[in-house]
Amino acid sequence: MNSTKDFSGIEPFESKVWLSSPTMHGEEIKYVKEAYDTNWLSTVGENINELERLVAEYVGCKYAVALSAGTAALHLGTKLAAEKIYGMARPNEGTLRGHKVFCSDMTFDATINPVAYEDGEAVFIDTEADTWNMDPVALEKAFEIYPEVKIVVIAHLYGTPGKIDEIKKVCDAHGALIVEDAAESLGAKYKGKETGTFGNYNIISFNGNKIITGSAGGMFLTDSREDADKVRKWSTQSREDAPWYQHEEIGYNYRMSNIIAGIVRGQMPHLDEHIAQKKAIYERYKEGFKDLPVKMNPYDAANSEPNFWLSCMIIDKDAMCQTVRGEKKALYISEKGKSCPTEILEAISSINAEGRPIWKPMHMQPIYRSNAFVTAKGNGRGQSNAYIDEGAAVDVGADIFDRGLCLPSDNKMTPEQQDRIIEIIHRCFA
Ligand SMILES: *Cc1c(COP(=O)(O)O)cnc(C)c1O
Repeated sequence: MNSTKDFSGIEPFESKVWLSSPTMHGEEIKYVKEAYDTNWLSTVGENINELERLVAEYVGCKYAVALSAGTAALHLGTKLAAEKIYGMARPNEGTLRGHKVFCSDMTFDATINPVAYEDGEAVFIDTEADTWNMDPVALEKAFEIYPEVKIVVIAHLYGTPGKIDEIKKVCDAHGALIVEDAAESLGAKYKGKETGTFGNYNIISFNGNKIITGSAGGMFLTDSREDADKVRKWSTQSREDAPWYQHEEIGYNYRMSNIIAGIVRGQMPHLDEHIAQKKAIYERYKEGFKDLPVKMNPYDAANSEPNFWLSCMIIDKDAMCQTVRGEKKALYISEKGKSCPTEILEAISSINAEGRPIWKPMHMQPIYRSNAFVTAKGNGRGQSNAYIDEGAAVDVGADIFDRGLCLPSDNKMTPEQQDRIIEIIHRCFA
């Protein structure tokens, strides 16, 4: 630890305070045991049926298809969009071969990897500062540069709904389909409607760190019976209705297990309670940081209700100490009255709590370095840390990555523990 700040008197936690860990309630094991006792241990059973019904009812869509992971749901959702527009590919070719897809830039790579699985090319669209999601202005600009694009993949980062109306308007004007990644935002609402219902193809995740979990798992959400049936078929190896294994399409082993479904089924009644706990954590941080040169991750309070999955903060530009980040390491010079994400993350970690840097934007990832990147202002790449006029960053995603971080946001964190985290962050700015 490079910090010169005084952290004396702040005791480390006896057991670790996590970023976001599973929170179980007891019903989960009952459904798992039921599956075990009745020998429904494969990818068919009462837990799967009931979970699909519960989620469709909660989210307000007609069909929910339970899959092995959010990533699997994204793969099949992206493939459906691709087939709809470009038709079925030969078995040895991805359905997106030779085609570009517009993608959220500041997200987890699982959102956009399926574009590569299908041989497509992601074009990254910069982030806006109001909700930290895809910037509709940059998206419109991307359509001017690449008018042939017909698929847009959007995510709602950290459980905060993006500018859905504006993005839909741009997509409609250009006849593009939307794949909506609501993996982090289950239960978040935009104008009273749940995220995961706005795209043409929608997905959620039950990964171990999400707002509710099955230890793994995901779902495809839709109002189209045909699409739901297609995803169910693809996810179970694309078997045709024949006495033997008969295949007309490429298949996948992507269906959810009835054991996993039992865990998620037991979690569903607690989703709203988890959201309330996460919101209380966010509000408590916000209050605790009132006197610091930082802000919480922003949202559109007039139109949206996030699920507050992760609480994040961003440091004011003039309160940043000098820092450089290489590909795998960061350096900073500790300075009185200022701080930076690395110093704060090290301080948090020193008392046995887990924070994390902001998800590093996709256009900055070595794997996607040669992909195009479109920003609202300026001409895209190579402008991280550049600002034009008063405070407007050219590469907004890089700027949020530079100055932001994710805070410990576990629902089981007590107010006392959170106060200690708030205290150590104050010391970072002393
Ligand atoms: C977790 C996550 C995924 C992937 O979900 P898995 O269930 O882990 O496969 C996709 N997109 C985003 C934004 C995520 O946070």
